[in-house]
Amino acid sequence: MDLVQPCDRVDCAAVTVTPTAPRAADAARNLDELRWEARLLALPEPFYARVAAEPLQSPYLVGFNPAAAELLGLHPAAASEADFVRAIAGARPIAGTDPVALRYSGHQFGVYVPQLGDGRALLLGEVVRDGPGPDGLRTEVQLKGSGRTPFSRGGDGRAVLRSTIREYLGCEAMHGLGVPTTRALAVVGSDERVMREGMETTAVLVRLASSHLRFGSFEMFARIGRPELVRALADFVLATQLPALAPGDYLGLLQEAVTRTAHMVAAWQAVGFTHGVMNSDNMSILGLTLDYGPFSFMEGFDMEHVPNHSDHEGRYAFGRQPGVALWNLGCLASALQSLLPPEVARPALASFAATFASAFEAHFQRKLGLAEWRGESDEILLRGLFRVLAAQQVDYPRFFRLLCDYPDAAALDALRGLMADPRGFDAWAEFYRERLVSEAARDADQRRAAMRAANPKYVLRGHLAERAIAQAQQHDFTEVDRLLHILAAPFDEQPEHAEYALPAPPGSEPVALSCSS
Ligand code: AMP
Ligand code: MG
Repeated sequence: MDLVQPCDRVDCAAVTVTPTAPRAADAARNLDELRWEARLLALPEPFYARVAAEPLQSPYLVGFNPAAAELLGLHPAAASEADFVRAIAGARPIAGTDPVALRYSGHQFGVYVPQLGDGRALLLGEVVRDGPGPDGLRTEVQLKGSGRTPFSRGGDGRAVLRSTIREYLGCEAMHGLGVPTTRALAVVGSDERVMREGMETTAVLVRLASSHLRFGSFEMFARIGRPELVRALADFVLATQLPALAPGDYLGLLQEAVTRTAHMVAAWQAVGFTHGVMNSDNMSILGLTLDYGPFSFMEGFDMEHVPNHSDHEGRYAFGRQPGVALWNLGCLASALQSLLPPEVARPALASFAATFASAFEAHFQRKLGLAEWRGESDEILLRGLFRVLAAQQVDYPRFFRLLCDYPDAAALDALRGLMADPRGFDAWAEFYRERLVSEAARDADQRRAAMRAANPKYVLRGHLAERAIAQAQQHDFTEVDRLLHILAAPFDEQPEHAEYALPAPPGSEPVALSCSS
C-alpha cells in the first residue's frame, strides 16, 4: 500500500488558499468590499427563509483568525474596525448580502425529526474571488448565534460564548490536523445573557465552508414527498460543488458523499476526535466536519468515550463513529431514492467499509511509522496496541507523540511512565520493535520525522479550552488567540508551548458537555 496522506482524495479544507490569493495590500478592508453572491438563492423559497439577524447588544471582538480571512481576501486589519464587529453582531447589514436560514430535517439519535433547519444560523452568501474556472473561488459565510429564525422551534436563536469558542478553536484545530472541516473567521461576544445549564453570555461565530448543506437538507424534501425538490438540490450540489461530475450523475453524488465521509471519519479516529452529535442534520454533504457541539479530542484512550453527557446510551461513542457514519449515509441514500433506486445505491453504500478500512490503515501506518502495511499481522499489532491503551486509558496524543522517539531510552521511560502497570506495554513494544527492525526501508531519523508529521503534539484538550473560555468570560481573550495559533501548527515542536501538550493536572474535574449550548 502506498503511503497515503490522510485525505488526499478529498478536499482537506472547506476552501483552499491558492497562489492567486490577493496580497494583504490588495485585500478588502471591510466586509462590504467583498464580492458577495448567493447561487443558492436561485433555488426556490422552500429551501430557505429570508431572515435578518437580531442584533447582539454592545458587541466586542473575542477572536479573529487571519488565516481564514485570507481565504475571503479580507485584510486582517478589518477586524479592528468597529464596523466589522457591528456587522457580525447583526447590528448593521453587510452590503451585497441577502441572509437566509436554510431548511432541513434529519435523524436525531436515530429518530426522524421532520423540521429542523438553521434555528440560530444565517447564511450571508458566498464570497467570490478570482480563481481558476468560470465560477472563481467561492466560500460560504454563515453567522451562528445570530438570533431567531422560522426554524428556531421555540429556541432563543443564540449560541453561548463557551460553545462558540469551542467551535472556533475546535474546527481550526481540525484544519491544522489536516481533517476536512468547516473553518472559522471570528467570534464576536456580548454580555447579553441566556439560560442554558445556568445563565451564560452569548456570542456569534462566523464560519466558512464551500457549502453548509447536510444530509438532512435532502431528507427534508424526500420526506414531505417533493422529489422534484430533491432533484433540484442534487442538481445544485452537482453543479456548484462537484463540477467534475456530469449533470444528472446522482450516483456520483452519493458515491462522493460516501467516500468523503469515510475519509473524514477515518481521520477523526486517527486524531481521536469524537463529534458527539452525529445526527444526520450534522453530516455535511461534502464530508466536512460540521456543527461542533459537545465534541472532544480524546485524551485517555477509550473506544466507549462519549463527550455528550446527554448521550446516555453512547450512540455516538468514539468507537461507534464509523458505523454511525454509514447509518447516516443510509438516510441520505433513502432521501435520494427518487433519483437512485436502492439496487443502484447499495454498491455505493457498500463501498464505505473498504474505503474507511484503507484510509484507517493508512493513518495508522503513518502513526506507527511503518513503511508498508502488512495486512493481518499489522492489524494484530494495532489491535494489541488498542488493548494496551484501553486497559489503562493511556493519553492518546501523548502516547503516539512519544512513540515517535521509540526505542530511545528516554522515550521508552516516558511511554512506560504513562501507565501504572507497563507490563502489557512492554510485551507489545517488543513486538513493535521487531516489526520496525524487519523494515529496512528507512533509518530511524527518517521514521521519526515521518511519525512527527502524523502524530500531533498539540490537540484541543478539554482543560485548555476551559481555561481559555474562563478567561474570555472575564474579557481576556489572549488565551483564545494563543490556542488558535498553537493549534494551527499541531505537528510542530513549539518548545515554548510544551505545557500545552500535557494532560490536565491530576485532580482536574472532567469537562461535561451537552448538545445545543
Ligand atoms: P445542534 O445540536 O446545534 O446541531 O442543533 C440542532 C437543531 O436545533 C438545529 O436545527 C439548530 O438550529 C437548533 N438549535 C440549537 N440551538 C438553538 C437555539 N438556541 N435556538 C434555536 N434553535 C436552536
Ligand atoms: Mg446542527
